[in-house]
Amino acid sequence: MTADFDLFVIGGGSGGVRAARIAAGYGARVGLAEEYRMGGTCVIRGCVPKKLLVYASHYSDVLEDAAGYGWTVPPARFDWATLIANKDREIARLSGLYAATLSRAGVRQFLARAELADAHTVRLSSGETFTADKILITTGGAPYVPTFQGCELAITSNEAFHLPELPRRVVIVGGGYIAVEFACIFHGLGAEAHLIHRSAEILRNFDADVRAGLMAALSAKGLKLHMNEQIEALERSGDGLVARLMGGASLPVDAAMFATGRRPATAGMGLQEAGVQLGLMDEIIVDEWSRTTVENIYAVGDVTNRVNLTPVAIREGHAFADTVFGGEPTRVDHHLIPTAVFSQPEIGTVGLTEAEARGRGLAVDIYKTSFRPMKYVLPGREERMLMKLVVDAETDKVLGCHILGPDAAEIAQMAAIALKMNATKADFDNTVALHPSAAEELVTLRQKSA
Ligand code: FAD
Repeated sequence: MTADFDLFVIGGGSGGVRAARIAAGYGARVGLAEEYRMGGTCVIRGCVPKKLLVYASHYSDVLEDAAGYGWTVPPARFDWATLIANKDREIARLSGLYAATLSRAGVRQFLARAELADAHTVRLSSGETFTADKILITTGGAPYVPTFQGCELAITSNEAFHLPELPRRVVIVGGGYIAVEFACIFHGLGAEAHLIHRSAEILRNFDADVRAGLMAALSAKGLKLHMNEQIEALERSGDGLVARLMGGASLPVDAAMFATGRRPATAGMGLQEAGVQLGLMDEIIVDEWSRTTVENIYAVGDVTNRVNLTPVAIREGHAFADTVFGGEPTRVDHHLIPTAVFSQPEIGTVGLTEAEARGRGLAVDIYKTSFRPMKYVLPGREERMLMKLVVDAETDKVLGCHILGPDAAEIAQMAAIALKMNATKADFDNTVALHPSAAEELVTLRQKSA
């Protein structure tokens, strides 16, 4: 008997929407279920709203710096409600675009939670049941908050996008990019922001020079860093909260946000019952073609916990559709993925850190520079920019490029093309500088660091 669908996609986020659209373009009959809002984490409560808040938080520095360029700026006021309303309007617009794109592609959409009844049957929370030849799981992940006294008072990034007002004092727990970005957002918008992390340094997998540079810059800005520290208990106190720290101190705050990791969304979906094997973090185990341990069930994106970034989920979804419905077997290359932290100052990076390169036993030459960006000179801002190249001493190949400072993400995206093409340090040197820019420093690094 023919199945109701050739493909049923569970999850309308970055990976699922791309896979559904491309598969439908190849002529497949596609259904897609989304339990919350079309667009997924990236659009609704991830990259996009986050970046809008990052932009908003830059204005405190910009307004301050304007005086150095001759501007007299009337005392500035910030209104959280306006920002959130404008952000929500844009998110609704984007979510609508995702739904419209799927409709145009002929994908049947269901706003419902889905689970597997068996390896070929999907059951929706609406009560409907559909059979499908292939099933793709793209349910992403969800924030994880550890259990401790008062943990129910904590919020995560999900709620941070919808706070009724800007907290005057906020504590953020975590050392990953989401924690760091939100600490900078709240600080930039005028809150007293505390960042608590259980280790000595934030951003574990980033280059040591960049991490140290960022931590120094954050402290200089007045963001309160509490390293080697944890929250033992959260208690209500008047209108606010008190965070009791392991080290003995107490922090009175208005909000406590935990960015202590995300877990793949695999619970209660009938996956294991259908034979889909999960890993230690409850991620779906897949092969290089994103196929699970069940022959007709595939998974892409954060739910597989490979590289949890939107462009990666999109590529994996696209590659799945090309492979399974387009007759073009396509594997995703997870090597040399550029990444950013939209902190202030910003980080942009691609390739190996110095420690990773040395850890692989490679002989490396390090080229780095630290300077005050030209745009900070007239305002008298002391913040410095850092650029670093990790170069294979034997082959001259550039293995890693690490940037801290304004527009670091934009620069890293372009550097990633060069690294992907196996550029050597000599190729960087042969490229004429674009003057005056900050990025030109990357092609004028002559001196190896000792
Ligand atoms: P998702 O986009 O999470 O989509 C999964 C969808 O499945 C969700 O819409 C969910 O509602 C739905 N779903 C779950 N279970 C079910 C079910 N049983 N039935 C039906 N529907 C279900 N990445 C970047 O590249 N750059 C960034 O700057 C960046 N910033 C981020 C900031 C934050 C605060 C967060 C949380 C994430 C950020 N990310 C960023 C990561 C990025 O959002 C994810 O990597 C990406 O969204 C993963 O896409 P996905 O398709 O795997 O899952």
